Amino acid sequence: MFESRCGVCCGSCERKEKVKCLGCTIMEKPFWGGDCGVKTCCEEKGWDHCGECPDFPCQMEANMGVEMGFDPAVRLEQCRKWAEK
Ligand code: SF4
Ligand code: SF4
Repeated sequence: MFESRCGVCCGSCERKEKVKCLGCTIMEKPFWGGDCGVKTCCEEKGWDHCGECPDFPCQMEANMGVEMGFDPAVRLEQCRKWAEK
């Protein structure tokens, strides 16, 4: 079952309760109250997650978090797995 739009595995996030995040598939806005381009794009297109999108992985999805030091490969692989189900 998919847990986010971008491939983040929210179920195994240790910060979830501390930051009062229910997961962005449930919340109208991300837990920080701002905007997430990936969440917005994915929901506007009517996909459950980016792995369903014919443009996957677009530049935005492929590069999100890179400048903060996160490896996007993990998220992208998760989206591929969700898409296979
Ligand atoms: S980065 Fe965006 S799409 Fe990914 S879990 Fe957070 S709000 Fe959802
Ligand atoms: S892969 Fe890119 S274009 Fe497709 S839904 Fe995700 S953010 Fe939007």
